[in-house]
Amino acid sequence: MLDQSATDAFVEFERVQKSYDGETLVVKDLNLSMPKGEFLTMLGPSGSGKTTCLMMLAGFETATHGDIRLAGKPINNIPPHKRGIGMVFQNYALFPHMTVAENLAFPLEVRGMNASEREKKIKRALDMVQMGAFGGRRPAQLSGGQQQRVALARALVFEPELVLMDEPLGALDKQLREHMQFEITRLAHELGITTVYVTHDQTEALTMSDRVAVFDDGRIQQLAPPDELYEAPQNSFVAQFIGENNTLEGVVAELKDDIAIVKLDGSDAVI
Ligand code: ADP
Repeated sequence: MLDQSATDAFVEFERVQKSYDGETLVVKDLNLSMPKGEFLTMLGPSGSGKTTCLMMLAGFETATHGDIRLAGKPINNIPPHKRGIGMVFQNYALFPHMTVAENLAFPLEVRGMNASEREKKIKRALDMVQMGAFGGRRPAQLSGGQQQRVALARALVFEPELVLMDEPLGALDKQLREHMQFEITRLAHELGITTVYVTHDQTEALTMSDRVAVFDDGRIQQLAPPDELYEAPQNSFVAQFIGENNTLEGVVAELKDDIAIVKLDGSDAVI
């Protein structure tokens, strides 16, 4: 009988190792299995191997050992553009000489889609990120947040089953970042897209994800839903990393016995 868990997995890393110099392993014996539609965040300090995992999944790097499978099939020999993966990276990487609509048309042209069908898909993707009125602009004529939305629309326009995002909101201010966090998770769930999201920001990981893989030194230290990471960190690294920067911001309005009433953006929290 087939192993049910193996057939249900959409993205799989099995005993994956990666070395860039033939000596040091920057990814060490990594195992990960994601069901279709999951929003998984790789969270960890800089240099812990998150981007390398994403690059291997995208096809820009090859695993030194182990297998990576997509929908049950090994992807080692499939070139990046044939993997059907949407990608959003920190620098957006929109084509500067093309308009917004042309930027979105590009992945569709590559796939041989005809002009009228392209137009429909582009309109739908731009409307989805509320950029419908900006198709004729060039990237330089847009704000950082608008460029980010276009990058997101471009990653989604060909309706990929898997989207990879690497620190996509790093350059945005807090308010826009929070708005985009909400937008990205909403779209991913609405469209049933499987998402791997890389960040070093604990709050972002905990608010957006179905599950979080906490990375340190090339290994997953814990893989769990956000509430479980809080309630039952598996080791001291996870406990410390999850706790860092994850303090509430606000002013103490009142102290009663040992309880502080803290004002948070106009609402009260009791600590
Ligand atoms: P993270 O995304 O968690 O910051 P990375 O995957 O970027 O981690 O990096 C993991 C390790 O691999 C780091 O020590 C980094 O210097 C190294 N590394 C990343 N990319 C390359 C590369 N192209 N060539 C050599 N070393 C690399």
